[in-house]
Amino acid sequence: MDETCSKCGLPKELCMCQAIAKEEQRIKVRIETRKWGREVTMIKGLNPKEVDVQALTTKLKNKCACGGTSKEGVIELQGDHRHRIKKLLTAEGYDESNIDI
Ligand SMILES: [Zn+2]
Repeated sequence: MDETCSKCGLPKELCMCQAIAKEEQRIKVRIETRKWGREVTMIKGLNPKEVDVQALTTKLKNKCACGGTSKEGVIELQGDHRHRIKKLLTAEGYDESNIDI
């Protein structure tokens, strides 16, 4: 029994919806300062309906070796990871020109 995509009706292994969605996301990366001057990297603009934000958060946390959370499609990583995020997101299939740092 093949799983099919609810959006395009193709079997999951042929479905390009995730890939297309990734290319269309306009991502904003911002640094915010929290209490006691603690810096966090905020990644905004992801569509939680189209992207597995939870899985992406876990991946980024591992790659940056930092703590972090995600809420309503916004990823928050502890520390300043701007220099890494672009490379990591590009490696995940996001379009570099859509990543605004
Ligand atoms: Zn699909």
